[in-house]
Amino acid sequence: MQPNERLLQYIWQYQKFDPANLQTTQGQAIYIQQLGYLNTNAGPDFLEAKVLISNVLWAGQIELHVQASHWHAHAHESNPAYQNVILHVVWEADKQIFDSNHNPIPTLELKSRVDATFLIRYQQLMENKQPIPCYNSFDTVNSFQKIVAMEQLLIQRLQHKAEYVLQILDKNNGDWEQTAFVLLARGMGFGLNALPMERLAAETPLKHLLKNDNLLATEAMLFGQAGMLGGLPDPYARQLQAEYNFWKAKYQLNSSIQYFEWKFMRLRPNNFPTKRIAELAQLIHKNGSLFSKFLFFENNSELKAALQLPPHAYWQNHVNFSENTQKQNVTFGADSANLLIINVVVPIIAAYSIYKAQPDFMDKAIDLLLSLPPENNRITRFWKNLNLEISNAAQSQAAIEWYNNLCMKKQCLSCSIAHSLLAK
Ligand code: SF4
Repeated sequence: MQPNERLLQYIWQYQKFDPANLQTTQGQAIYIQQLGYLNTNAGPDFLEAKVLISNVLWAGQIELHVQASHWHAHAHESNPAYQNVILHVVWEADKQIFDSNHNPIPTLELKSRVDATFLIRYQQLMENKQPIPCYNSFDTVNSFQKIVAMEQLLIQRLQHKAEYVLQILDKNNGDWEQTAFVLLARGMGFGLNALPMERLAAETPLKHLLKNDNLLATEAMLFGQAGMLGGLPDPYARQLQAEYNFWKAKYQLNSSIQYFEWKFMRLRPNNFPTKRIAELAQLIHKNGSLFSKFLFFENNSELKAALQLPPHAYWQNHVNFSENTQKQNVTFGADSANLLIINVVVPIIAAYSIYKAQPDFMDKAIDLLLSLPPENNRITRFWKNLNLEISNAAQSQAAIEWYNNLCMKKQCLSCSIAHSLLAK
């Protein structure tokens, strides 16, 4: 089996080759003093390496290729970034490469120095069709190693989510209140309606909603901006439309959202976007500053109470503006509130921690996850089938990050579990 370039980097980085009596293709003795560190940007693969070649110490960069001739295929001969390459490490030395002074670049061929079973194990991992490719051997890796991996993955997940929050903050010129509003609205779309909910909040400045201590005005502005009120016979909808017309003119509100963008199909009536918007209106109306609530809550009960507020009485027997239905759940349940905390509140706290360089808030975000039950979804069930312990939301978030960023993309060479499995 011939490795790809990423595997060749791994072989070099972790010295998965026989290091005895290394020689260049021209017979000069090689002694590696420093492997260099992996360069994740453009340019040679490893930087700041030190190599003794025929007892002369060279310091510089190392470039790796599956075949030496790829040097020309990648046009390195005309790229000044490659002028300080001290060693060309290749799987197969199919061609001698020369530098700009026509001197041969010292080349090390690894083909005969790598254990075949190592390559076969890697190939089996890559060809496995299970959702988690190391499915068959995951159990053989010790639990401590999995715990350490999950701790790192949790931090990685919080950083990824915080980056998204900071992007929204940037779009909102540093306004944390509007940012929290946009993210909460997105979260309340619960996947299917996340995008129109996010746009609804983005196109409806929170400051206008907060100016009115009036639930009817808040509902009117949100439903009107959502494109949900036009031409309805329902008296409550007509009342909201009249109210919206007033606020729209006063605040010069604009919206690009069309009714057809909202998804109702395949949703339980209680999850219709109409109910979610009504709930969002009540959260704004009752809580005022969502951002401070999310950041400075005293305990989980206080936070959940702020999120699980029953909407206007109309919605107790309506799921949209046309049908009078049986009595509905007053608001979303504990599982949905937990999801909002995991996907909205925790990322905001983590982002604030990074933005203000205050690690205490990152600890608060992690403590919050540790106190919540784990998510139960397709990904966490994959892991549970492998007996991975997932007993709180910190672990379920780490498990989701693991699957999405490593297993699903087959990025096993960046995973500590693969290091163990390939080494066995
Ligand atoms: S990324 Fe890690 S846990 Fe996932 S399949 Fe590869 S080796 Fe296994």
